[in-house]
Amino acid sequence: MLALRLLNVVAPAYFLCISLVTFVLQLFLFLPSMREDPTATPLFSPAVLHGALFLFLSANALGNYVLVIQNSPDDLGTCQGASSQRSQCPPPSTHFCRVCSRVTLRHDHHCFFTGNCIGRRNMRNFILFCLYTSLACLYSMVAGVAYISAVLSISFAHPLAFLTLLPTSISHGKRQSAERLGAVLGSDMFVILMLYLWFAVGLACAGFCCHQLLLILRGQTRYQVRKGVAVRARPWRKNLQEVFGKRWLLGLLVPMFNVGTESSKQQDK
Ligand SMILES: [Zn+2]
Repeated sequence: MLALRLLNVVAPAYFLCISLVTFVLQLFLFLPSMREDPTATPLFSPAVLHGALFLFLSANALGNYVLVIQNSPDDLGTCQGASSQRSQCPPPSTHFCRVCSRVTLRHDHHCFFTGNCIGRRNMRNFILFCLYTSLACLYSMVAGVAYISAVLSISFAHPLAFLTLLPTSISHGKRQSAERLGAVLGSDMFVILMLYLWFAVGLACAGFCCHQLLLILRGQTRYQVRKGVAVRARPWRKNLQEVFGKRWLLGLLVPMFNVGTESSKQQDK
């Protein structure tokens, strides 16, 4: 239990560090290196457009991250007590999380990166957090590849060029001057390692997001799958509306609290 509680503190700190490093690299390395197009107006220059897109993705990722924490699932505190009290709780979807030390309604899983339980109230923000984190990582990877390609004059035309980037960049530096090799082993090497990290986190978040969406369409939570609880026989549109609410399009573009529908306000059966 001590290890889980420690992970609950370390994982959010790790996420915030990666976010800060990504932000610094984008703002002070990738964006200034983008070649200015003399024919474009200053408002639509590549650097401004790339900067605006990155800010949009990262603002949605961080905004939904904060909302996942703020919008914690309902705490049914007294349910974890005498059996008479426990019988008042809807049994199929409640779960006592040992890390959070509370019982939550329509529990899905405990997320260590947000240090919080994911349930009915913050599921939409959690999915959007995964979606935008994935997009921000993959976008940062593309911007990083463009930067490394320009700085080290490496072509990414070959399909395996990305996977062999690390040995290629070192041999490329060796062929040039000692100063160039030093740069490759310094800041450029750090960017190359971040490329692999963004790639891995981007794919993991995208996969997690897709899996979670499939469960929502079926009207199931991860906890119910683990416990083998039967799926509620409901149309997939209703299941989606329960999680995303009526103003789902606005929620896709701007981080905001979940807009509950009539059905989501009802207690689970
Ligand atoms: Zn928890």
